[in-house]
Amino acid sequence: MTTVGMKPRVLTVLGATGTIGVNTLDVVARHPGRFEVFALTGATQVERMLGQCRIHHPRFAVMSEPAAAAALRARVAEEGLTVEVLEGAAALIEVATAPEVDTLMAAIVGAAGLPATLAAAQAGKRILLANKETLVVSGQLFMDAIAASGAELLPIDSEHNAIFQALPRDFNGDFLQAGVKALWLTASGGPFRTLSAAAIAAATPAQAVAHPNWVMGKKISVDSASLMNKGLEVIEARWLFNARPEQIKVVVHPQSIVHSMVEYADGSVIAQMGTPDMRTPIAYALGFPERIEAGVSALDLMGRQLTFEAPDTARFPCLQLAFDALAAGGNAAAVLNAANEVAVARFLDGAVAFSAIAASIAHTLDTLAGGAADTLDDLLEADRQARSVAATYLEAR
Ligand code: NAD
Ligand code: MG
Repeated sequence: MTTVGMKPRVLTVLGATGTIGVNTLDVVARHPGRFEVFALTGATQVERMLGQCRIHHPRFAVMSEPAAAAALRARVAEEGLTVEVLEGAAALIEVATAPEVDTLMAAIVGAAGLPATLAAAQAGKRILLANKETLVVSGQLFMDAIAASGAELLPIDSEHNAIFQALPRDFNGDFLQAGVKALWLTASGGPFRTLSAAAIAAATPAQAVAHPNWVMGKKISVDSASLMNKGLEVIEARWLFNARPEQIKVVVHPQSIVHSMVEYADGSVIAQMGTPDMRTPIAYALGFPERIEAGVSALDLMGRQLTFEAPDTARFPCLQLAFDALAAGGNAAAVLNAANEVAVARFLDGAVAFSAIAASIAHTLDTLAGGAADTLDDLLEADRQARSVAATYLEAR
């Protein structure tokens, strides 16, 4: 495809210094003239952000941490770069919704990404959504905002990107009309797939972040080890594709070659496959509806075995907790997400055992689920209360 004479897409990358952000900028750099970087955001990694500014020349670099912003300002001045450095959560919203911007990569980790991503949805941007927690916390509200503004939503999560590719292009959320029977999310099973319950309970942070197939941020790596990542993805699929819970199936596929599947009424199952590399879904969404080069090595299936097995919710209770929260509705998914974020952070700090993650989420859901979830304030309040209940529970462990 030629880009000569084409107007570049003007891009803000939220979470540019993270794994998804770095992969996004890698794809962008392969297509000179196709994208213009308006803003990059990070939290604390000053030198990485500086390096990205040298290469991509954004107008704005935002550090959510003021001390990191001050350090970046000094480094930018030293090097004579023209980028303007902003700080704090309000600046994230500013650069996500600026009128110049047409495309937002939403790749902050956790509910911290919600306000800016939701604001971009309200502002009618094309949103490349990696930050699944936004949909888990505020699914209905977020999808309503997309519909009301005419914003465009393209999934980056590899499973949802695969399903998006395997659905009819004009799919409008009507399963019956499209002849769609079920969505099949594949799960690698994570690093603890073959371990006993006792071994999983005693697992260390180093074991949990050592994912067999994907290189990812720490939080999502722990979520993959507990299968909470799949649970969050079930909830994400419910909102992205207007699926009922019973239309969403999970199958463990340890090779991570089949990224997910759509099952149709006539018995057809359409899968999207590829080398496990996030640059594929990122490039798909960046170029959509065109296919662009992603730098990904070709899939070599010769001699490969692809296997599939049922998930074990007894050894991995987090997956069941997510299905339960989805069934419960209301504020339950927001509570589940916040309790998980707190527990994963405490586990990574070495303060609690791996088994405490599921236990504290179950306790927090029992304590708080059933509250109001009609407005953003309700959801943020549920998030705040769940963090406090989960922290108190974990403190006592
Ligand atoms: P990461 O930890 O590598 O990066 C997180 C980014 O968010 C960093 O740029 C960090 O500076 C920023 N950030 C963290 N806390 C922040 C805060 N409070 N305010 C503002 N910015 C903050 O994470 P990642 O692996 O890139 O994942 C990002 C998102 O994409 C997550 O929601 C994750 O679930 C999703 N995702 C990631 C992958 C993957 O392969 N890494 C795959 C699918 C979905
Ligand atoms: Mg995924």
